[in-house]
Amino acid sequence: MTDLRHSPDNASPVEAHGFDRRKLLKGAAALAAAAVTTQAASGETVPPFGQTGTPTRSTAPLPLGPLPGSRYPDSHLESAHPKTSFGPAGFPAFAGTMAVERVATGFRWAEGPVYFPAGRYVLFSDIPNNRIMRFSEDDGHVSVYRQPSMNSNGNTIDREGRLLTCEHSGRRVTRTELDGSITIVADKYNGKRLNSPNDVVVASDGSIWFTDPVYGIGGFYEGVKANPEQEKHNVYRVDPKSGDIKVVVDDFVEPNGLAFAPDEKKIYIIDTGFTDGPDNPSHIRVFDVDLAAGKLSNSKVFAEMPKPSITDGLRTDRDGRVWCSVGWGDPNEDGVRCYTADGDLLGKIHIPETVANLCFGGQQRNRLYICGSSSLYAVYTSVQGAMKP
Ligand code: MG
Repeated sequence: MTDLRHSPDNASPVEAHGFDRRKLLKGAAALAAAAVTTQAASGETVPPFGQTGTPTRSTAPLPLGPLPGSRYPDSHLESAHPKTSFGPAGFPAFAGTMAVERVATGFRWAEGPVYFPAGRYVLFSDIPNNRIMRFSEDDGHVSVYRQPSMNSNGNTIDREGRLLTCEHSGRRVTRTELDGSITIVADKYNGKRLNSPNDVVVASDGSIWFTDPVYGIGGFYEGVKANPEQEKHNVYRVDPKSGDIKVVVDDFVEPNGLAFAPDEKKIYIIDTGFTDGPDNPSHIRVFDVDLAAGKLSNSKVFAEMPKPSITDGLRTDRDGRVWCSVGWGDPNEDGVRCYTADGDLLGKIHIPETVANLCFGGQQRNRLYICGSSSLYAVYTSVQGAMKP
């Protein structure tokens, strides 16, 4: 009987047991090389793209549907020119049968709403939860569109129906193409990283305009804490043909929401610098726009906010009115304000939470969607949002 454990005279006991030390060493060398290669490939460590929080769980979730006390006419809709009869009051959200509804809830900080008419849904950011949510208008269901979202903030849609997104932890502006791939539109200026893009609009010529304050890198809750690399908190324009990025305004304390007038001859840009100091602005500025040259001029203050309230986001309607968010101050001011193009206050929409931003939606573009802290609100209006977001 052959002893299979017997070693030939010229073989080591190890080899007799099926191990080849030379092969082992060769293998170890290969592993070591592979390790070096792996180390080289992952030599640069990066932080996670913000924290991905668990959804809020409330024992008493805010009820959906019309807000309490919404007997017609809804007392949440306050005209600056009180009605003396049943006729129009001059505030185009004050028609008798319009009431504010809460259509979704359960978010930590809802921001950056944008409406996609082809799909009849609203996308909006839930910044601390590092996700973009989708509210479907047909049946009212809410789902996660993207997570992680790089702590996205402001969103908009371009003329081709593509999503544009400002990312805090990505410190960039991206475009989601129609096939779902993501294109980086802007992440640097003068070779240095952007601070934390906040809000974005696209003009009819394809140029992309966005603001770049520092809110998104101030801590780890709504982004990833980092030092600003841009000394100034600029408003930028990305050229539609070359992709070049240039500064269009550099004297804001904290530039925030922005929107073109429907004829694109003016642009409204918010300064929320008040968050950095009591003497700083809490207002909306308006500029003349030279779209072909990509230049702004003739800066004026359009509307002052009632400090300590600030406005964070705004949209215009087809007739040139300006609709802006209000929050962070007197709860009686929380909600939305509507101004004429001349800056006269037409009315307020009272929301029971601090409001960050808003957009027009609906198939007729006459429904105002309002991001208010933990919830998404909606109210029909007598106007249509500007087709140029
Ligand atoms: Mg904002």
